[in-house]
Amino acid sequence: MSIFTKISTTVKSSISTMTKPKPITMRFFEVEVISVTPLSPSFMRIGFKGGKVPDMCMFAPDQWIKLYIPNPDGSVLRIHNQAHYNKLPKATRPPVRTYTISALRPDQYEFDVDFVLHGDEGPASRWAMNAKIGDQMQIRAHCYSEDDTPSGCRWLPPKSANKFLLFADETGLPATIGILNLLAQQNEKPNVEVFVETPTLQDRLAMPEWEGLTVKYLIKSAGQTPGQLLYDEAVSLAPAKLEGGVYIWLAAEKTATRRIRLHLSKVSGLGKDAISVAGYWKYGEKQY
Ligand SMILES: Cc1cc2nc3c(=O)[nH]c(=O)nc-3n(C[C@H](O)[C@H](O)[C@H](O)COP(=O)(O)OP(=O)(O)OC[C@H]3O[C@@H](n4cnc5c(N)ncnc54)[C@H](O)[C@@H]3O)c2cc1C
Repeated sequence: MSIFTKISTTVKSSISTMTKPKPITMRFFEVEVISVTPLSPSFMRIGFKGGKVPDMCMFAPDQWIKLYIPNPDGSVLRIHNQAHYNKLPKATRPPVRTYTISALRPDQYEFDVDFVLHGDEGPASRWAMNAKIGDQMQIRAHCYSEDDTPSGCRWLPPKSANKFLLFADETGLPATIGILNLLAQQNEKPNVEVFVETPTLQDRLAMPEWEGLTVKYLIKSAGQTPGQLLYDEAVSLAPAKLEGGVYIWLAAEKTATRRIRLHLSKVSGLGKDAISVAGYWKYGEKQY
């Protein structure tokens, strides 16, 4: 059974009794904050609950959702559908930001998101810094798809992949942990090498361990170019690590991911199927 089939089946089996499959990709959900848990200096885990949460789908451990950030007073402008959103004057549209589902518990109508607290300049980070139980939010998430075509994710390793290289900054860490949790379920644990760039040493979040998994944390210093430490690691990788069945997954600041992808593609000759890259934010740009 492939990794994708396994995760998809797990989620599907828990929703099969509750929903009739429909070929819908994304839907709006009303959710409420049920827990706020500081994980480290840079991370806040926020738990959400909503009556329709069992309809949400995780095709892969890096499944993303869209958060419609509430007004500063906590009120929520309800969006009926995407057309409604598009018709709103730009100044009144709620800010929309992309986040990873760090855990989905359809049986309990719950899911978690791990927010990086990068200051109060961004509406999502600011909201997370001030979130409290009972706060309301609208989100848009992927739902059951009739033909199981994965969407809203980048973790799509080919069946032939037998070793993995993961590069992430702090925004990609929740997805990285999801990927490791998934790989940890395999009977034969694969060789995995992980590079994670975080603002502080205390941002080492809990993750599974096995022989064959190495995780290297790279701690940014103040004013450092985001993703520079990840790039340096990519450049110093031994060529043998880029051969024979390797699958590379990379999620970090946009400019950094582009540099790293260009370098790795050039030195390895690996095709698109073997390298999945996502820019998770862009330095100096909001609502990326
Ligand atoms: C597929 C996907 C999955 C993601 N998953 C997660 C997740 O699980 N957890 C998570 O925290 N983020 C995640 N992100 C990243 C998140 O969407 C961005 O960091 C987003 O910009 C945050 O919105 P904001 O409103 O806080 O800041 P914005 O209004 O978008 O930006 C305001 C300013 O802050 C800067 N900025 C944005 N993010 C950061 C950062 N992390 N560190 C420093 N400066 C920053 C911008 O460059 C800009 O100058 C994900 C992004 C994608 C595309």
